[in-house]
Amino acid sequence: MIKQKDLRPKDLGRPDEQLIKVESLMKLKPPYNEEGMEPPFTEPKQAWREKYCASLDGFVGIDKLTRPESKEQEQEFVRKFLNGLEKAFTDANSGVLQPFLLSFEYCAKCNTCSDACHIYKATNGNELYRPIFRSEALRKIVKKYFTKSGKLLGGLVGADLEVNWETVARLGELAYRCNLCRRCAQTCPLGLDNSLFAKEIRKIFSQEMGIAPSPLHEKGTMNQLKTGSSTGITKPVFLDTIEFLEEDIEERYGLKIKFPIDKKGADILLMHNAGEFLAWPENPIAFAILFEEAGLDWTLSSEMLGYDNVNYGIWYDDAQAKKIALQQMKVAKDLGVRRIVIGECGHAHKASAVVADRMAYGEDKVPVESCLPLLWDLVKSKALKFDPSKNNFPVTLHDPCNVVRQMGIVQPQRKILKQICPDFREMTPHGVNNYCCGGGSGFAIMNSMNFSEFRNKISARTKFNQILGAFQDTIEEADIPKYVCAPCSNCKGTIRDILEYYRVTEKFNVHYGGLVELMVNALVSMNKPFLEFLE
Ligand code: SF4
Ligand code: SF4
Repeated sequence: MIKQKDLRPKDLGRPDEQLIKVESLMKLKPPYNEEGMEPPFTEPKQAWREKYCASLDGFVGIDKLTRPESKEQEQEFVRKFLNGLEKAFTDANSGVLQPFLLSFEYCAKCNTCSDACHIYKATNGNELYRPIFRSEALRKIVKKYFTKSGKLLGGLVGADLEVNWETVARLGELAYRCNLCRRCAQTCPLGLDNSLFAKEIRKIFSQEMGIAPSPLHEKGTMNQLKTGSSTGITKPVFLDTIEFLEEDIEERYGLKIKFPIDKKGADILLMHNAGEFLAWPENPIAFAILFEEAGLDWTLSSEMLGYDNVNYGIWYDDAQAKKIALQQMKVAKDLGVRRIVIGECGHAHKASAVVADRMAYGEDKVPVESCLPLLWDLVKSKALKFDPSKNNFPVTLHDPCNVVRQMGIVQPQRKILKQICPDFREMTPHGVNNYCCGGGSGFAIMNSMNFSEFRNKISARTKFNQILGAFQDTIEEADIPKYVCAPCSNCKGTIRDILEYYRVTEKFNVHYGGLVELMVNALVSMNKPFLEFLE
């Protein structure tokens, strides 16, 4: 094992059982600065080491990356990777070739990006998680295999990385130590994007080698294409769920609301992350209450993929992303709606409004919008009446990376909160300078082996500190409820896990949820609190 400060990209090929161990972690804010407040790391099991690649940092993110059984299998694995790497630099890599090439060729190694990365900072500067560690390793491999000087002079010109199964497997794992949050790209003085290296490695693994974490591929994309949703909810189950939600709304709040389903020619097709129906049904319920009270012309779809805005392919495989994006667009087209509105799901914002925009052309396209400006319009136009005193407790806002940094939607959500939450406080920093929740790019749903420990203790650490920071004045006053507003399904999943892992709700009365739940809670028309912890 190498000390974290001594690690260099060329070490990726070393035969060590484990390259580095996370030796140090950023201090947490009070009361989590006290001894015993944080669960310790657990050791990876020997059986995992024997079967998977635990030789990078002891965590296993890719449950489909298993050790070869013969020399031939090992050679085939390396060959496929190098093949895929060569293709990443061809014009077939449409859409990303230019930014990828620029990032590959022009890095000045100034390391400005390191300070921007929450994973690097959370580990007190562990070399393995430095944003340019990945790109440097890739440059060495490209030099060694695809340049004359590298082939002839090897280590003398920097082509000094031994490429074997361990190297390639470690690179694959390393691609899943980056949240693809692009905070580093935003700070780079040359505008280079280091997240592209992680994304391209993931793509090579999936598109060329058939290897991707099963929560993203089998249980995500494949399940979605087979059943209609990444949760496995089929059309009949979806329709039953909606009926159940309608009964629940009537029973709890005395409201008779009929969710419009498959309404042809509606103004809005509202698309939720299907995870909401299972994990946070209060979110689609809150949307329905708001949209009905405001008199909007809207519908949900019960068609395959029409009730699930998820598109995990954008994190690991362009071909899979395209299949999903085109089917979702077709559902909207067939319904004849005027626009698709994406509910509170950050990656779905990017997938539908940015990525799908380059995949569907001309008349196949339906305009896509975020729900956030629409919700702000409802508040601003006074289409809904609020009593902010109903939200009289500290509230902070988490900014999903894909909403703020990718799409520049920064103000609507905070303008709403400023109107309906008298004790709203910002995290530091926020807006486009936000930190990822730590669950970005698939980490929120990747729980194989010990990967949740990497998420809870490392990638989500900075966000946890921001939450503690926002509530420092009342954190230890357990009688005061506190609310983290996270308008994104994946971010909510990560924040739920942090709050459970560190027992924050239980000890300090900190809760989490979406934006629409807070809006409904403050509606004058509601005869009882919508947020359960207020009851
Ligand atoms: S900030 Fe940009 S130029 Fe500097 S090391 Fe990072 S990627 Fe390279
Ligand atoms: S994209 Fe985010 S997680 Fe990845 S290296 Fe950059 S700052 Fe770190």
